[in-house]
Amino acid sequence: MNTCDQHGKPLLARVLRIQDYECWVCGKPIKVAYRSDGSYGLWEGDYTDAEKQFAVRHGVKIRNRYSHTAGARYEVNVC
Ligand SMILES: [Zn+2]
Repeated sequence: MNTCDQHGKPLLARVLRIQDYECWVCGKPIKVAYRSDGSYGLWEGDYTDAEKQFAVRHGVKIRNRYSHTAGARYEVNVC
């Protein structure tokens, strides 16, 4: 198993899966990025910059929105 040079801990791959979906608003095909832990990477900061660039290169559109109900910024995959 590979270990981290800095911390000596086992390296766990951060996997970002891109999946095809249909937009729930207009029905157009969209791409959604999933984190390896199964989350959408919903909240701001859930995606690293590298993950965002990877997702964008693969056609995922990520928009930063503000939720008044939750009182926090979140990131959303849009069509
Ligand atoms: Zn749409």
